[in-house]
Amino acid sequence: MTPPFPDAGWRFDNSYARLPESLFEPAPPVPVQRPGLLVFNEPLAADLGIDGGILRAAGAAMFVGNELPPGAEPIAQAYAGHQFGHFTNLGDGRAILLGEHLTPDGRRVDLQLKGGGRTRYSRGGDGRAAEGPMLREYIISEAMHALGIPTTRSLAVASTGEWVRRETPLPGAVLTRVAASHIRVGTFQYAAAVGEPGLLQALLDHAIARHAPAATSADDPAVAFLEHVVEQQASLVAKWMHVGFVHGVMNTDNMAVSGETIDYGPCAFLDTYDPAAVFSSIDQQGRYAYGNQPSIAHWNLVRLAEALLAAVRGNEETAIAAVRGVLETFSARYERHYLAGARAKLGLTVAEEGDRRLFDDLLGLLAATGGDFTTTFAGLAAIAESGTSPAADAADAAFHEWYGRWLARLTREPGGRVGAVAVMRGSNPVVIPRNHRVEEALAAAAAGDRTMLERLLAVLRDPYVETAANEPYRGGPPSGCGRYRTFCGT
Ligand code: AMP
Ligand code: MG
Repeated sequence: MTPPFPDAGWRFDNSYARLPESLFEPAPPVPVQRPGLLVFNEPLAADLGIDGGILRAAGAAMFVGNELPPGAEPIAQAYAGHQFGHFTNLGDGRAILLGEHLTPDGRRVDLQLKGGGRTRYSRGGDGRAAEGPMLREYIISEAMHALGIPTTRSLAVASTGEWVRRETPLPGAVLTRVAASHIRVGTFQYAAAVGEPGLLQALLDHAIARHAPAATSADDPAVAFLEHVVEQQASLVAKWMHVGFVHGVMNTDNMAVSGETIDYGPCAFLDTYDPAAVFSSIDQQGRYAYGNQPSIAHWNLVRLAEALLAAVRGNEETAIAAVRGVLETFSARYERHYLAGARAKLGLTVAEEGDRRLFDDLLGLLAATGGDFTTTFAGLAAIAESGTSPAADAADAAFHEWYGRWLARLTREPGGRVGAVAVMRGSNPVVIPRNHRVEEALAAAAAGDRTMLERLLAVLRDPYVETAANEPYRGGPPSGCGRYRTFCGT
């Protein structure tokens, strides 16, 4: 008899698995040959109330799905989605939801194995994931968390000891993903499309209980839920914009109703500022370019509203009017979040008419000169501290003019330059997961050396403070790197 799997403190309560059956399919992970733990997130384990020591000692078996933690009920979730504008039925083709863990402080989180083997929804795929992309998701999602941006998180990446067939054979790996939930806009699209009586309502009740409990007592819970998601997305995308994050594949199946960033496939960060920046090799039209993200978020929310219509009270006409009213608030909400973030990046705490213009003018200069987004903003605090424009004797008169205007604006701040510096230091990261640094760490890891990966992860954990350790990680790529490309279908 095999001994019971050590109990590290998991407390599962799998409410999604109690929803109507058409929303999911039982999906036991497919065992792998030789599990090996590549990275493990000790601080996240502690945050979840899980004993990291016990987990680590138990090895990688749980993180590839060879062993299930007590209480897990593995399922694959059904969903649909608009991919690059086209509606498709999808579902977890290579992700297995182990269940929902209740943390000691009362949160409910999904625990999912990405790359855990074939499911009913795998279509032609192998249900597997490669090591590089899973480590990449680990790095970037944890960096986003440290930047203060809502995101799914990564508990571990474990190698499978098996090869996955892509263009070339690649080492396989499984990512253990932690999320507020994995309910997507596409999950609602699926429930609406199936049209089974009670299905949409059951999903909605579940999502409301998890993500918008206040909507339960609203006049119209479906409309209140939509409003909640609209607000979360407006806030989320504004945060992406302020760190130069390009999601890369904002299909409706990759938008979580929890308001967390999800599905780190072809994402990347801006080095030089460029509103048209696209990194994904499959995004030929630039649909998901950096500057398009707010309008795509809105487009996706319209798809959510359409899916929710059948659950909205009243007749069709009044229901459409109700959701339209909510959708129309997106722009103002986004603008409010964006402007608040922009002010903070400039060190401003009181609102003035010209603030948006001041911010846009700096972006305009960056776009015109190909300036580095992160280092420019991170450098503002030091300029405010010294009180003089660094461009004073340089040829770039336009920057000089801008710094002068901005320093004059800071004199009207109640906290003066000192207060502004503190605000900026909390809003402008000095280090982000630079594409070239991520690639370098992944290449070393692929060659068997994970010291660079560990060093990068450590540096990204504290992105707002200048330290000796993060000094080499602050700058953009060396010149001559060429345009950075990312790939989907990883
Ligand atoms: P993504 O581009 O990662 O958001 O995935 C889009 C859809 O393709 C989802 O339904 C995935 O589950 C599915 N998928 C991606 N890769 C695989 C794979 N290797 N095997 C099976 N399904 C996959
Ligand atoms: Mg996806």
